[in-house]
Amino acid sequence: MGKYTGPLCRLCRAEGTKLFLKGKRCLSDKCSLERRSYPPGARGKRVSFRKSNYKIQLREKQKVKRFYGVGEKQFRIFFKKAAQKKGVTGENLLRTLELRLDNVVYRMNFAASRTHARQLIRHGHIFVNGKKCSIPSYILRLEEEITFKEKSSKNDNIKAMLADVKGLVDVPEWLLVDPEKNSGKINSIPTRDDVSIAVEEHLIVELYSK
Ligand code: SF4
Repeated sequence: MGKYTGPLCRLCRAEGTKLFLKGKRCLSDKCSLERRSYPPGARGKRVSFRKSNYKIQLREKQKVKRFYGVGEKQFRIFFKKAAQKKGVTGENLLRTLELRLDNVVYRMNFAASRTHARQLIRHGHIFVNGKKCSIPSYILRLEEEITFKEKSSKNDNIKAMLADVKGLVDVPEWLLVDPEKNSGKINSIPTRDDVSIAVEEHLIVELYSK
């Protein structure tokens, strides 16, 4: 299936949870889910069907995919790698997703949303360990440092954007951020408790294990 290009708030309403896809708006009372907390579509308000196990598992997977902005193919690759690692597959998967460069840039308050972070990365504004990294799905490692390209950090538009998103989200303890220098690093590897979306990852494991 191709990339979803429809209204983003519709995705949150379909999943019944905030996916924080629209930056500041998600934290305001303009959030669509706050005003219309029922599924989208003409029958949205009236839908009350019993969900099969498969549907519950599928929704859990879709929720995580949409939260992190990952396509199906890439999500399967992440899952396969998580299953090959030592430890609990579901936790390995979430840890990997948390360590994606786009997620880290967003959680460091360097972008308004994960989508915005991907845009900044693709446009070459973000450096990892002093080198340009234009791959949003790059998985960061311990101690790796994230900075803005020197020219970008002097750019008025970027400066205004950074001022606007400052303090937007709480920076988790596994990240160390220097807001003055617009830089940060991976201080420790995130644990299961550091995942900010409410998810039952074992349902995703069950779905892919069929
Ligand atoms: Fe989701 Fe609300 Fe943000 Fe829209 S404004 S993307 S419904 S969290």
